[in-house]
Amino acid sequence: MIELNEEFWIDFYQQYYSIEISKIIENYKKDDHSLIIDYKDLLIRNPDIADKLIDSPSEVIHSAKKALINYVQNIKETTGLTDDEIDNLNIRFINIINKINIRDIRGTDISKFVSIEGIVKKVTEVRPKIITAVFRCKLCGFTSEINQKGNKFIEISYCENCKKNVPFELIYEKSRFVDAQKIRLEEYSERLKSGEQPQTIDVSVDDDLAGKVLPGERVVINGVLKSYQKEVHGIKSLFFDIYVVCNSIEVKERDFEEINISKEDEKEILELSKDPLINEKIARSIAPSIYGYETIKSALSLQLFSGVRKNLPDGSKIRGDIHILLIGDPGVAKSQLLKYITDLSPKGIYTSGKSVTSAGLTATAVKDDFGDGRWTLEAGALVLADDGIAAVDEMDKMRSDERTSLHEVMEQQTVSIAKAGITATLKARCALLGAANPKLGRFDPYEPIATQINMPPTLLSRFDLIFIMTDRPNKEQDLAMAEHILRSHYVGEMQRSRFKDDDKELIENIKRIEPEIPPNFLRKYIAYSRDNIFPVLTKEAINKIKDFYTSMRSGGEDSPIPITARQLDALVRLAEASARMRLSNTISVKDVDRVLKIVEESLKQVGVDQETGKFDIDVLMVGTSKSQRDRIWVLKNLIKELMNTGDGIASELDLMDRVKEEGLDVEKVERDLSILKRDGEIAEIRPGYFKLVNI
Ligand code: ADP
Ligand code: MG
Repeated sequence: MIELNEEFWIDFYQQYYSIEISKIIENYKKDDHSLIIDYKDLLIRNPDIADKLIDSPSEVIHSAKKALINYVQNIKETTGLTDDEIDNLNIRFINIINKINIRDIRGTDISKFVSIEGIVKKVTEVRPKIITAVFRCKLCGFTSEINQKGNKFIEISYCENCKKNVPFELIYEKSRFVDAQKIRLEEYSERLKSGEQPQTIDVSVDDDLAGKVLPGERVVINGVLKSYQKEVHGIKSLFFDIYVVCNSIEVKERDFEEINISKEDEKEILELSKDPLINEKIARSIAPSIYGYETIKSALSLQLFSGVRKNLPDGSKIRGDIHILLIGDPGVAKSQLLKYITDLSPKGIYTSGKSVTSAGLTATAVKDDFGDGRWTLEAGALVLADDGIAAVDEMDKMRSDERTSLHEVMEQQTVSIAKAGITATLKARCALLGAANPKLGRFDPYEPIATQINMPPTLLSRFDLIFIMTDRPNKEQDLAMAEHILRSHYVGEMQRSRFKDDDKELIENIKRIEPEIPPNFLRKYIAYSRDNIFPVLTKEAINKIKDFYTSMRSGGEDSPIPITARQLDALVRLAEASARMRLSNTISVKDVDRVLKIVEESLKQVGVDQETGKFDIDVLMVGTSKSQRDRIWVLKNLIKELMNTGDGIASELDLMDRVKEEGLDVEKVERDLSILKRDGEIAEIRPGYFKLVNI
């Protein structure tokens, strides 16, 4: 039977793969010496063997490999490969038709060829693994070879030559090693029902496949499912664990079909896109149970659709993802909004800044059990959310090293890691939706945002939109909101108790908190648009944006800077998303108008100098407004003046007198003074006396 198979293979190679084989021989490299066979080719030529590959993979792969070695040996004269190199050739099968979900793997799949899709969560360093150990008898010098197949190193103690148990030593030079790596594969989050935790499976990767994938990549792993008996403290357990011995890896390109969209769906999607009020409808379909926040919901709906990612001719890239930050008092439904968006986004991940997972937000390198002493690189939420939305709650409580790496994620959309033997750059192309609570509980409009939420201005300036959500008593609004929240509760209660179809009041109430577009359909609509629509700015839209930008910046040299090029980028991205919402290939003036309203609303909240009421982006970017900077400048000069007349020391009493003379606002000056002290610009020599540190 096996011989017969071998004949088939030689014939198969000759007929269909001779060109590939000669290419491999020609370009033989240490990290690339495998023949890749399309399973579909095999299925057409010999369905029996194709079936057998799935059922008894070890046997089929073995005979295919043997045949390949024979085939190449026969043309050896022309190849220039050594016998060892020929022996090391591999056969890898790709495009297996039936894929299996990690959670559906069962005992009956053990020893079968499986094909599993997933996202790479962890990889270990690549290290050599022994596959053939050569031992030498310490007494007579007799050598024996042992093939190492399982998980444990097999040693020998009996010498065939001495005919007794003797000590042996391993001869490294004669033993054979291959590169090896362990990978952990995780299910796609978008395929899970809400609330399900993704499951994982470990994969053992050898030879020229080792080191080929990075955490965060979406792949198909093909290989043989194996099991091994678990051991707890050296005692064998009744339970077995499974892993995959990898035969081949297919790296998925971006933009693959993530959500099944049927022909009927597509028809319905195109139909809905014609609705003239589609943008408003979508915005209203976001978290209808949460009262108010119309602008924020519009912004979030734009984030779901995203701008267009661009590769420019000079090699640079512009992100399309829209980053949004919600800052606000506790209990204003920030977390609720984040969860709703993660659910709606075709690929969304929700995490909290204070989450304790080992990989955190970006990525980590650790030495743990998984790697058996090797370093392991593990992807965090932002890497796993590739091409989706990562909602990060409680950003104010993030670890400081993570805060630092966020800069790179938000602009370059990569995560670089250099630790121990591991240096890697992982992709992290996701839109960030952050939420942060002010340090002191309530938001203070007169304090710089940066210090209130423990985030540097450099990071804040990378958000396309920032909104402040405050909880201020307001009779009318409070009443409406209370009614709205109570209505949600009421509907929820009614649906659990005596729901009757003819209950008019209830139906009316349900309507008011039911999304106009059902979430499942909206998710498909979003996925369809993101995959198919790449809108272009019209001339009129370009002019409109230009006008807005120049008019905002036309204050004269001495005035505050109201916006920068960053906001211009943001405007374009948002306008693209707006066009995508109606599945339009052009960005119209209307799109620009719509997003200008949102941008202005955001700037009014975070980009206005509260003292003058003027737009001043430095409030956000630098953390101080121009009026504050001007006042601090005057203040420092007054201190200098007093130091000159008073032996290098200024008294606070004298300073306050001078401040009043100059007509400065005493309260604001006191606030500025405490900032200067905090930042170490003023040193207090003794109570009530101080001096400037850098003159
Ligand atoms: P935060 O994360 O801002 O502290 P949460 O998202 O945890 O707040 O919300 C607290 C509770 O208040 C939730 O049950 C939420 O539904 C409710 N809530 C707050 N504001 C609103 C609102 N505008 N409409 C409906 N529910 C609200
Ligand atoms: Mg919260």
